[in-house]
Amino acid sequence: MYTQQSFWKEKTELAEACQRCAELGYVTSSGGNLSIRVSENEILITPTKTPKRCISAEHICVIDLNGKTLYAPEGLAPTGETPFHVRMYQKRADINGVVHAHPSVLTGFAITNNDMLTKPFLPEPIIEIGPIITVPYETPLTDELSDNIEKFLPLSNGFLLENHGAVFCSGKGVMDALDMLQMAEEMAKSVFVANVLGNAKTITPYYVKKLDDVLHVRSLKMPGDPNRVTSLVELYNIGEN
Ligand SMILES: [Zn+2]
Repeated sequence: MYTQQSFWKEKTELAEACQRCAELGYVTSSGGNLSIRVSENEILITPTKTPKRCISAEHICVIDLNGKTLYAPEGLAPTGETPFHVRMYQKRADINGVVHAHPSVLTGFAITNNDMLTKPFLPEPIIEIGPIITVPYETPLTDELSDNIEKFLPLSNGFLLENHGAVFCSGKGVMDALDMLQMAEEMAKSVFVANVLGNAKTITPYYVKKLDDVLHVRSLKMPGDPNRVTSLVELYNIGEN
C-alpha cells in the first residue's frame, strides 16, 4: 500500500525541482509537469491544478509504468500529461527524470520554424543534451503527442514541443533534467543574440569529432538513447569533410 510517506525523500526532491522551475520562471501557475522514476515500475509525478511554486512532497502522486495511479493525495490526480512522461520512461530505460516547462526563449524558438538549436554551437550542450529537436505540434494530453515525442526520443535529451514548450530528460534524475533545461534556455539566448549580431557560426565537424573522442576516451554517456547513439558526428548529421 502506498501512503503519503512512500518515497518521501524522492518526493521532496521532486517538490524542490518544481519550486526551482517556478523560481526560474520556466512555468507559471499550474503549467508544466515533472517526474522521477524511482524503480523499474514506479514513477513519482506532479499533480494537476497545483501551482509549481506551492508544490511540496505531500502533493506528489505515484504511478506505474503504464500510467496507472498507485497513489494520489485526496482531491488531486496525476498531471494530464502523464501519457508522454510514461512513454518516455517506457521507451528509454536510461531516463530517470523528466521536466516539461514553458521557458520563454526556448518556447519562442518552438513557435517559429527555426531549427538553429539542432546545430552544434556550444560544447557542453552538444555533450550533455544533443541537438534540440522540435517535435511537431499535437494537442496536449493526447496519445498523438506521445507518438510524436517517441519518434525523436532516441536522438536527444532535450526537445521543443512546437507551439507549446520544452521537454528535457536525464538519466541522473529530475534535478539534472532541470539543469539541462536551464543550460538549453541560456544557449537559446546566446543563439538569439548571435543571430541579432549576425554571422552565428557552428563548431566545425573536425571539432565535433574531437568532442566525440572526449566522450569515448572518458567512457562518458552519449546524449540520447545509449542503445541508438554512438557518435556525436552522426547525431548532428554532419560529414567529416
Ligand atoms: Zn505544457
